[in-house]
Amino acid sequence: MPPPITRVVLATHNAKKLDELRRIADAAGSGLQVVGLDEVGTYPEPAETEDTFEGNALIKARAAAAATGLPALADDSGLEVDVLNRMPGVRTARWAGAKASDEANRRLVLAQIDDVPDPLRTARFVCAVALVLPDGTEYVLRATMEGRIALAESGSNGFGYDPIFVADGNTVTNANLSPEGKDAISHRGKAVRAMVSRIAGLNETAATQEGR
Ligand code: IMP
Repeated sequence: MPPPITRVVLATHNAKKLDELRRIADAAGSGLQVVGLDEVGTYPEPAETEDTFEGNALIKARAAAAATGLPALADDSGLEVDVLNRMPGVRTARWAGAKASDEANRRLVLAQIDDVPDPLRTARFVCAVALVLPDGTEYVLRATMEGRIALAESGSNGFGYDPIFVADGNTVTNANLSPEGKDAISHRGKAVRAMVSRIAGLNETAATQEGR
């Protein structure tokens, strides 16, 4: 019977992503200890070669589980802009070039749709979260946050494309929301809460089967 999952590695070097995931998992009362890749040593990280968020999240989680021997979580996320045929999609992080800054990526999206009126600027953030256990068992799920691309940047909270994304029901961009306000509605908030509850279910099943 597998041991309860209490410590997981998150396959990322992105400190903001790690903070966000820890915050969401803590707020959900998960009791999980989440460590980042910077804390577990280096290994050759695989290229994200799949054309789905789920596929890329699994690539990252498999590599982290194999290298560390720990249960591994990975998230793969991005932005889909309807008028751009749902691009940038899996290319969101590299939209303005392989080493593009967040600011360059945002400017490119704004420029690409600068003639598109507000009602047609619909978009969504997508997040796939994968969990790979040391015995090779895999879980993956996705969640979205629907909204629109703003006409201009605003706000300084969050990261990435937050300054140009207005979630449905809001009048300000994500970068004007508090961290907790964003977590409550975000693609990552929803996906991580769902994964935390999946992990709790796995732990409960294991405990029942062991008569713990
Ligand atoms: P990943 O790190 O390979 O998953 O790439 C995610 C891309 O989507 C990066 O460019 C991020 O900046 C962007 N992104 C994902 N989630 C968010 C978010 O919550 N706010 C803003 N940008 C995000």
